[in-house]
Amino acid sequence: MEEIKHQQSMPASAGGLYREKKRPDTRKTGKSNKRGLNSQKVRWSVQIAFFVVVLVIGWQFYTFVKYCEAGGKGFYLPRPPGVESFLPISALMGTKYFFGTGTINPIHPAGFVIFGTLLLTALFFKRGFCGWICPIGTVSEWEWRLGDWFLKKLPQRVSSLMRNIPTRFTAGLSLIFTPLIALLILEVITMESFESPLFRYLTPAYILAMALPFVVPGKFWSDKINDIIARAWKFSILAFFIHVVIIKMPIAQLEVLYTRAPFVRVADVKMLKFFLNMSGMALSVVLTILLLSLINKNYWCRFFCPYGALLGIIGYVSPMRITRDTGKCIDCGKCTRACAMHILVEKKKHVLTHECVACYDCVNACPVNGALDMKLVGDRKKIHYGLYAIMLVGLYVAITNTARATGHWYTKISDAEYVLRISELNHPKYLHKAGQFEME
Ligand code: SF4
Ligand code: SF4
Repeated sequence: MEEIKHQQSMPASAGGLYREKKRPDTRKTGKSNKRGLNSQKVRWSVQIAFFVVVLVIGWQFYTFVKYCEAGGKGFYLPRPPGVESFLPISALMGTKYFFGTGTINPIHPAGFVIFGTLLLTALFFKRGFCGWICPIGTVSEWEWRLGDWFLKKLPQRVSSLMRNIPTRFTAGLSLIFTPLIALLILEVITMESFESPLFRYLTPAYILAMALPFVVPGKFWSDKINDIIARAWKFSILAFFIHVVIIKMPIAQLEVLYTRAPFVRVADVKMLKFFLNMSGMALSVVLTILLLSLINKNYWCRFFCPYGALLGIIGYVSPMRITRDTGKCIDCGKCTRACAMHILVEKKKHVLTHECVACYDCVNACPVNGALDMKLVGDRKKIHYGLYAIMLVGLYVAITNTARATGHWYTKISDAEYVLRISELNHPKYLHKAGQFEME
């Protein structure tokens, strides 16, 4: 609950009303070091570096698919294994396969290795992946920073209202979808149930759910409530995939899927085609998320991303946490206002929440040396942002390169098989219906 309270007490630039400092900031130390190197410049550099890597991977994979579509002729670039990081369901399948068989699947090994690495980073460094590496987190941040620049030019009442619209809208959607996902998990309904006329009769209920966060007066239905309901969505998506893949899917079935399901063998190509030939519906969803991300900080990360939800849960056991020295803190609230994840940092001794992405923004904003730092459990050792960056990126690079060196990185699917399968990609055997795959 505390995370949300601050949305109403934040300045116009951060989503709420400005709160004056408790007393003059006489102990200012210039810690933010706007001109020199600081945590944000280092973090942005890491984000940009990974973003460029992702762009290169995308271009390389596109070129590879074009080569295969030409029947194995023309300009050739090898398929980049990193493309498998965009197959989250495959990563979950690979995880189950690994723990069930003790081996790494031969179809999307890099996807599993990258996913496993993310889980390990969360174990040690909380959601540092979200705040430092993830390209979607990076784009989200660029978006809200651009939106902030625009919203600051508007009257405060208008900008505050605009900032709250995405949360209310998402809470309405979550009111509809979170119970539906729960019913799917409980197996009260199936995916086929959505084709039933009953779901059409529920249209008035959907409209009511969407309207509630907008029409019920704030004193009965506050934005705190909306925020909680909206955030529930990412956990329900995560629970659904864990239920379907980790709990329900037998290892033997995974074995069959890896060897005999044509869809699974071209899932990466299908994913590329999905993005290149988006349906009107998919495009509308993506554009809506992009639009709302401009006026609501880290919109995707806070409300939808199941990866973020999972890393946040694992991050609870991380030995690192943002720690406030209550003796040194002057209660200026700058840390809270700097936090894009809407965490009420100024009221916490330790930031122990699944939402912290370890971005160091709050530490950077704090004007008092030693009042706020990333620390190891026990409050003794301070973790400098430079060391944090080296450890986070180092772990990522070390594990992925170890996998590469030990032969657990490249798919066993040959280029010749890709050429053949891509030539027949429109065959019905490459389709799947609600998770049901055709076998060969
Ligand atoms: S608490 Fe600090 S480190 Fe965590 S997300 Fe907020 S600003 Fe970033
Ligand atoms: S910890 Fe937060 S409230 Fe305390 S001095 Fe630093 S920025 Fe201000």
